[in-house]
Amino acid sequence: MPHKNPLHIPLRDIPPQGKRYEVNETHVWEDPLREFRMDCRLVEAPCMQLTILPTDEGWLMRGRIGARVVVPCCRCAKDMEITLDEPFEDYVQRPEEGETLAENDFAEGDDHLLLEHGALMLDLGAIAWEQFALALPPTPICSPNCKGLCPHCGADLNLGPCSCPKDEGDPRLAVLRGLKVEKS
Ligand SMILES: [Zn+2]
Ligand SMILES: [Zn+2]
Repeated sequence: MPHKNPLHIPLRDIPPQGKRYEVNETHVWEDPLREFRMDCRLVEAPCMQLTILPTDEGWLMRGRIGARVVVPCCRCAKDMEITLDEPFEDYVQRPEEGETLAENDFAEGDDHLLLEHGALMLDLGAIAWEQFALALPPTPICSPNCKGLCPHCGADLNLGPCSCPKDEGDPRLAVLRGLKVEKS
């Protein structure tokens, strides 16, 4: 029976020596980026290569995610292009004997595994999105020397100092000043 989503692959079709897959359908990444309103733009379609190897207990997945994206610097908010090229390894546990899986729904505690027409399927799209999200740097910085934005006036301090009074820049210093006043 044909299945609707070509990225849902039947696990019983994977031979004992493993099988290689490639995912480069842009919607796999574009849809969740839009849905989660993430500040991240794809320069070109990312690509995930993956080898799935059956084991006694489940399936071992070894692969690589590659992408070129534009993200804002977390200090100065300036857009910058970064290249992702990350190897990964993941594992999907075979459902316990007697564990009931709902048709067309993901297995409990595992959003990669689902049942379609009685066949166990692996959602390659979900894996490709997860590995992409894991490969994104949590705090991208345009340069290790990036001075960021002034917390008061928002000026880009990489372009030069702003006209805000210097000693108001650090709230911790303001607290110290307050303590000194109390003591005197
Ligand atoms: Zn920056
Ligand atoms: Zn300022």
